[in-house]
Amino acid sequence: MASGELIFLVWTDFVGLSRTRGVPVSEYERRRAHGLGWAVAGQALTPFEDIADNPWGSMGEVRQTPVEETRLRVSLRPDHPPLHVVLCDSLNPDGSAWECCGRSFLARALADMHAETGLDLKIAYEHEFTLAGEDLGWAPPFSLDAVRRIAPFADLCTAALLDAGLAVETLEPEFGVGQYEVSCGPAAGMAGADRVLLTREVIREAARQCRLRASFAPKPAPEAVGNGCHAHLSLWDAQGRPAAFDVNGPGELSAIAASFVAGVRRHLAALCALCAPSPLSYLRLGPHHWSCGYDAAGVQNREAAIRICPSPVPDPAARGDAFNMEFRFTDATANPYLAIGGIVRAGLEGIRARLPAPALVNRDPADMSDAEREALGVKALPASLDAAVSAFEQDALARSWFTPTMVEAYTALKRHEAKAFAASTPADMCERYALAY
Ligand code: GLU
Ligand code: MG
Repeated sequence: MASGELIFLVWTDFVGLSRTRGVPVSEYERRRAHGLGWAVAGQALTPFEDIADNPWGSMGEVRQTPVEETRLRVSLRPDHPPLHVVLCDSLNPDGSAWECCGRSFLARALADMHAETGLDLKIAYEHEFTLAGEDLGWAPPFSLDAVRRIAPFADLCTAALLDAGLAVETLEPEFGVGQYEVSCGPAAGMAGADRVLLTREVIREAARQCRLRASFAPKPAPEAVGNGCHAHLSLWDAQGRPAAFDVNGPGELSAIAASFVAGVRRHLAALCALCAPSPLSYLRLGPHHWSCGYDAAGVQNREAAIRICPSPVPDPAARGDAFNMEFRFTDATANPYLAIGGIVRAGLEGIRARLPAPALVNRDPADMSDAEREALGVKALPASLDAAVSAFEQDALARSWFTPTMVEAYTALKRHEAKAFAASTPADMCERYALAY
């Protein structure tokens, strides 16, 4: 009998889901060069059985074209089909990048940053998720008990991630009931962003094999602790030296990294439309949840939108290697390429404008008075998806990072998603997103 193994061509859309079509492994070589067709209007899909008004209607298709170096095959159990996936670029029929392809958007942002500054990015992500399954009862937060009761999952997930070269660094119980976290080591540029999706899919697959369900939805229940998806970014020069670090800079930020952070802060409200892009995101974002409610930056400040993470290495010569900037406002309803690409674009605007270092905040901004926040230029993040989309629409520079068609299609979809849940209770909204993500 022929092998029934399928390789799934995977792309992620405006709502950050992994969409796919599968081909028999024997057919893959034939499909590699031109990929598979996909109606462009698919980019207007919500996470549910619903599609927003869009500029394309029934016309046109893109080619979902495999990026061979992202191919991953993990066999979690001998008696079960392997997870075999390859990530795709969305290309026009003539082979050029489609204007709404998230992966190409990030590639261009990284290329522009490199061309203008000589710097490259390394990316590492923390994945928080909630496991649901029959036997998972309450366990104390962060406890050994919480993680030992999912020991088969933890082992399988770790083995699969290591096997796939996904550089898992830690797997740990988190604060919430059934909440866990996987942190992965940094990877350069596009590979770092590709890993975000691949890691998530391997975690999901390991959970399935253990009769559990992993959900990365930003808020599992209205009163529960949120699931963040924090991006740790660092800058590197052409000689491979850390460029975000300067022992004499504010918070040990180099001048260029300080401008990068200032640029992100300047565009943070607009960036929320890319990085916290679902109505549910705004149940997670807010003060006193360690998710962040204000656009502050601060050293080791977990209530800041941007946490400067000092290196644990005391040796001044090696300190820069682990130094990084953590962007805490991102969640897993975001397309990671649009989220990171948006952060890079905003950072690059800051570098171009030579923005000075922002005031670094060393308290919970929610505990400060209005006057104290104003003195430091600290503003509340948008309180809803609609507010974030409006901020994006009002930010001419942020809009200029995209084509007009992309802006139109993206904002229409996000407005549609916001409207669809405007009358829902928080509990209903949590329930629906938990199943989708
Ligand atoms: N769960 C928090 C969030 O939603 C993050 C907690 C932490 O710092 O690990 O972002
Ligand atoms: Mg965490």
